[in-house]
Amino acid sequence: MSIADSIGSVKPDRKAPASERLATILRRLSKAYPDARMALEFSSPLQCIVATILSAQATDAGVNVVTKSLFRKYQRHEDYLSVPEEELQRDIHATGFFRQKTRSLRGMAAKLVESFDGEVPPTMAELTSLPGVARKTANIVQGNCFPEAAKKDPEAGMAVDTHVGRVAVRLGLTRHASKEAEKVESDLLRLIAKKDRFRATYVLIEHGRRTCVAKGPNCADCSVEPLCPSSQEAGLGDRYRSTAPAARRK
Ligand code: SF4
Repeated sequence: MSIADSIGSVKPDRKAPASERLATILRRLSKAYPDARMALEFSSPLQCIVATILSAQATDAGVNVVTKSLFRKYQRHEDYLSVPEEELQRDIHATGFFRQKTRSLRGMAAKLVESFDGEVPPTMAELTSLPGVARKTANIVQGNCFPEAAKKDPEAGMAVDTHVGRVAVRLGLTRHASKEAEKVESDLLRLIAKKDRFRATYVLIEHGRRTCVAKGPNCADCSVEPLCPSSQEAGLGDRYRSTAPAARRK
């Protein structure tokens, strides 16, 4: 059952608590972005984790250009360990922060060998034990590659990237600042049912990419404008830009 089917209708009111607005927000965003999904290209859990590590501070489109040739050359986890460090740095250079990312990729590959028989593990606890893998990356990999494990995993959550963080702050779904990813995630997990979290992640990302952009959100063309306490259309202050203490924003 989709989010749109599973939630009731709530009269839009931007002043209502987040718990009362959330269902309508997700229903409207799901309708606005029916094809929302992971934009990184991959065809295995190893490729998913590599692409997600490379996506830090980089665009998904840019990462997809790099991984197209990278995945032809590096087909197994051992391949990230068998080349000289400088060669891997050159191969991922275009994604930025290539020294740090090279350390993460090699550390991750070494840990797969050491602890997981060379396989990407399915649980959040295991995924976050890999070098370079924090909750955002672990949530992305688990949600996309191990959905059955996610259903049973008490640690399963939602990936909070720059778009999810910004949109959550503007919509008043969190008390925290957009960069406080794990705290924003905790607030979202309190609001969003487990079965809806994967879908919710990608409609929030899509909304952040297409409409609720960092500079100049397009509030006039926003499907959740009547529910938004940061609407520029309604002449309200932008909570994302606000310098008020995070605890007072909600
Ligand atoms: S009304 Fe504006 S600030 Fe609020 S969610 Fe829509 S685009 Fe973002």
